[in-house]
Amino acid sequence: MLSPQIFTRINPRLVFSQWGRLRHFATGAPTTEVRSAIVTGSSRGIGKAIALRLARDGFDICVNDVEQNAEGVNSVVKEIQSLGRSSIAFCGDVSSMASVQEMIKASVSELGPLNVMVANAGIAKVSWPMEITEADMRELFEVNVYGMINSNIAAAQQFIKQGTKGKILNAASGTSFRADVMLPAYSATKTAVRSLTQSFAIELGKHGITVNGYAPGIVQSAMWDHIDAELGRVNGLPKGENFKSHTKNIALGRTSIPEDTAKLVSFLAGSDSSYITGQTILVDGGLVFN
Ligand code: NAD
Repeated sequence: MLSPQIFTRINPRLVFSQWGRLRHFATGAPTTEVRSAIVTGSSRGIGKAIALRLARDGFDICVNDVEQNAEGVNSVVKEIQSLGRSSIAFCGDVSSMASVQEMIKASVSELGPLNVMVANAGIAKVSWPMEITEADMRELFEVNVYGMINSNIAAAQQFIKQGTKGKILNAASGTSFRADVMLPAYSATKTAVRSLTQSFAIELGKHGITVNGYAPGIVQSAMWDHIDAELGRVNGLPKGENFKSHTKNIALGRTSIPEDTAKLVSFLAGSDSSYITGQTILVDGGLVFN
C-alpha cells in the first residue's frame, strides 16, 4: 500500500474557526459558507478540470492521486490556492479503504466538514474480450470498482457522522451504457459503477445524501493517449488517429475536453441538482443515446 503524504498550505486570507472550519476573515464581509470537496485522481485530466471547476464554484479542495503523480497533485493544489481557495494534497491509493479513510480524515481536519466526494480515479486497459488477463481484470476492478466503493462508503460515513447532507459523484463512462469491444473489462467496471451508484443512492437517500454518476464520452486525456496507442498496436493506425476516428460518430462533431465533464460535475455538486439521485448522466456530445 502506498503511504499517504499530506502537503498543506493555508491561504493567508483564511483562518480556522471551530470544527477546524476555514472562513473568509480579512475583508469584513459577511461570513461565507465554506464547502469542501475531495476529488480522487485529480493530478491531471478530467479530475484536474473538476477540482479547478469546483474551486471556482467556491469549494476548498482535497486533491488526490497516487504517489507517482505527486508533482501533478502539488501543482493542482497551487493552482487552486492561486484562485483564493484552500487546498491540500493527499497522495494515496483509492483501492485501499484505509487510505481513503485517512484521506477523508486529513481533508476534514484541514478543510472542515466534507460536502462532496468525487470518485474520479480510474484506469483503462485495451484487449479483445477473449484475451483479457486475470491480472488486468483484477487491477481494473481494484481501482475502478473497489476504489469507487471505498470512496462512497467512507464519504457517506463521514456525512452521517457530521449530520449533514452530502453529494457523491462517480466516474462512469459511455461504456457503462454501450460496451466497447476493445475495452471489455473496463466497460464491465464502469457498468458496475453505474449499478452501484443506483444502490448507494437508494440506501443513502434517507440521510439526504445524493449519489450520481457522470459518464464522459471520448475525452482528450492521458487515459485516451494510452487507449489510442494500444488500439494503434492492433489496427496499425498512427498516433492520434484512433482518438480522432470517433469524431464522425459524435453529433456535435468534436471529441471532448475535460472541462465538458467538469461542467456537469459542477451542476451535480451544486444545490440545483438536489432532487437528482441514482442517475448516471452522459456528457459525450451525442455519441450514445439513452
Ligand atoms: P487520466 O488517466 O488522465 O486520470 C486518471 C487519474 O486517476 C490519474 O491521474 C491516475 O493516476 C489516477 N489514479 C489511477 N489509479 C488510482 C488510484 N488507485 N488511486 C488514486 N488515483 C488513481 O484519465 P481521465 O481521462 O482524466 O479519466 C478520469 C475518469 O474518467 C476515470 O475514471 C475514467 O475511467 C473516466 N472516463 C474517462 C474517459 C475519457 O475519454 N478520458 C471517458 C469516460 C470515462
